[in-house]
Amino acid sequence: MRALLAGLIMASCIGGSAQGQTDHVNPWAPTELRKVLPIASLTEGVWLKGDLHNHSRHSKESSNNPEAKIISFAESVGMGYLCISDHDNHVNGDVAHNTWSDPEFKSNSVLLLYCAEWTTTRGHGTAISAVPYDHQKLYDVRDQRDIVVGAVKKELGIHLSANHPSGKDHFGYSYDMVDSIEVWNSAVWPKNANAIMIWDDMLSSGRKLTGRGGSDEHHGIPDTPDKATKNSYQATSNYVGTPTTWLFSKEKTSQAVVDALTNGRVSVSANPYAPRVEFYADLDQDGRMDMMMGDNAKSTGRPVKFRVQLTGNIAADTAYTIKVVKDGNPFMTLEAKGKTPTAEFTDTPIAIGRTYYRVEVTGPPTDYPQVPGSMKLSGNMIGLSNPIYFNFDPNF
Ligand SMILES: [Zn+2]
Ligand SMILES: [Zn+2]
Repeated sequence: MRALLAGLIMASCIGGSAQGQTDHVNPWAPTELRKVLPIASLTEGVWLKGDLHNHSRHSKESSNNPEAKIISFAESVGMGYLCISDHDNHVNGDVAHNTWSDPEFKSNSVLLLYCAEWTTTRGHGTAISAVPYDHQKLYDVRDQRDIVVGAVKKELGIHLSANHPSGKDHFGYSYDMVDSIEVWNSAVWPKNANAIMIWDDMLSSGRKLTGRGGSDEHHGIPDTPDKATKNSYQATSNYVGTPTTWLFSKEKTSQAVVDALTNGRVSVSANPYAPRVEFYADLDQDGRMDMMMGDNAKSTGRPVKFRVQLTGNIAADTAYTIKVVKDGNPFMTLEAKGKTPTAEFTDTPIAIGRTYYRVEVTGPPTDYPQVPGSMKLSGNMIGLSNPIYFNFDPNF
């Protein structure tokens, strides 16, 4: 090792680097990871779908959108969980006595998380929790330094997610204090290109950050024509489920849902009926998958077999295109078809240093009859996976 190091130093001297830097050793340079967390079961759990960004009547700019309407719609399309995330600034931070105390905030089949859109001068985020928490505290520190905000976030024990991170109301805080990022906001897929770029930058820099979706819907279908507003047209083009965020949850409880979101066992689909993207890896090439998206393993320096699988509504003879992204760069393009479209590839993550792989799937859109206008807005975007990670430091 010493000889190798000396050789490298010599080479850099010959390359003409500044004098006096020859003994510099970067203490942050990648080394062999001591250990990573064990990988959870790939089979013990349940796939649940939901929408993590919805505005009810407690957000002032919404229309015809009481909580009961959002929740019954979510139930009707088979959602397993839901986040009603009203703007906290519209109620001076008191979401507990507005969104969460609304008598309509209840469901027999959909897990309702405790959420709010943290709406600040420096941008928007979503606070997500399985249990009620003191959101007022997060609202109160919104203009403080990140170190203060981060401490409050930690104290509250919530999941914090960066919303629509590019453009107006971009997330202007440190990504070190968030657990996920909204990489697919609303049915309008093409406007998310910069969000995806930011996500890849954060991932490439070692931040293990879950990518998630959120419709950001504000407007319901009016009960009677005279209640229509200038925004009512949105109800049929962007509503609950455009897009839909799938997660593999240990069980059907609110806490397990939040944990799955934090851990990144998550993919995003254009709508609740579009195929779900699943992404697995076989570490020892024994034909059995050992990890899935969101999981992090230590690289052995040996080849790994990856599998992308689409599950759900698959039209006969439909061909899907799978774009594999490795460390933020296009890596390869695959095609999948058949009843359960599947594609595989093999690659060797480097032994020392980080690598991640994620996939994006395009193909013919899936009908969403309840929100028919959304299909045109999402185009041929079917879904995206979270990354499979190698050598990401759990103590980062
Ligand atoms: Zn927002
Ligand atoms: Zn919003």
